[in-house]
Amino acid sequence: MKTLKIPEATIIRLSVYSRYLTEVDRKGIVTISSGEIAEGVGVSPAQVRKDLAYFGEFGTRGVGYNVKDLRRHILKILGLSVDWSVTLVGLGNLGLALSTYKGFRERGFIITSIFDNDPEKVGTKINGVEVLPLENLVEVVKQNRTQIGIITVPSAAAQDIADMMVKAGVQAILNFAPVVLNVPAEIELRNVDLAVNLEVLTFNIGAQRF
Ligand code: ATP
Repeated sequence: MKTLKIPEATIIRLSVYSRYLTEVDRKGIVTISSGEIAEGVGVSPAQVRKDLAYFGEFGTRGVGYNVKDLRRHILKILGLSVDWSVTLVGLGNLGLALSTYKGFRERGFIITSIFDNDPEKVGTKINGVEVLPLENLVEVVKQNRTQIGIITVPSAAAQDIADMMVKAGVQAILNFAPVVLNVPAEIELRNVDLAVNLEVLTFNIGAQRF
């Protein structure tokens, strides 16, 4: 099969489409046109058709898309038709917010383990998941076959945590610490620097002024 390089912007829109389709499906709507999807998520109908065309034809001309089928198809493309085991390290304010975020579970990201080095936090439970000491990380993450690690420790600790996650066999890391991490090439690494995102916004606001 020919594999096309799918632009990241398309992947992000697919995620948005699938969330919208979940909503539409809950309302009991059976079919939907690209125009309706476009209106629902705020992009052009041509963009929706172009994004979906990467994955072959699955609409019927004049009828539109079957909501359930399209949703299932997109979730499969995004790798969300299965559950993913996620570990979170660093149960500070951000870590706590992320570990209690319902949107992860709804999308199949199950936080199966949480670690912290603060003795006051170790032993507490978040949504039934016990906070464990760091010494257990490699063993537990290996045992759970956890694929994704979330890092919410302070910057100074982030590289050590990333190293432990890699040692434990995670395939991907979502790093919230504002620091550059070194990981082997085969590890998918995404950095979410919340302040940088705000700075992009302020830059864009400023750019309109000058
Ligand atoms: P809090 O005040 O509850 O610690 P915070 O968000 O201000 O919240 P940070 O200093 O950003 O906390 O630390 C985030 C979390 O990471 C904390 O729960 C802290 O105990 C934990 N932490 C710090 N260093 C490490 C480390 N080396 N390994 C594991 N966890 C760590």
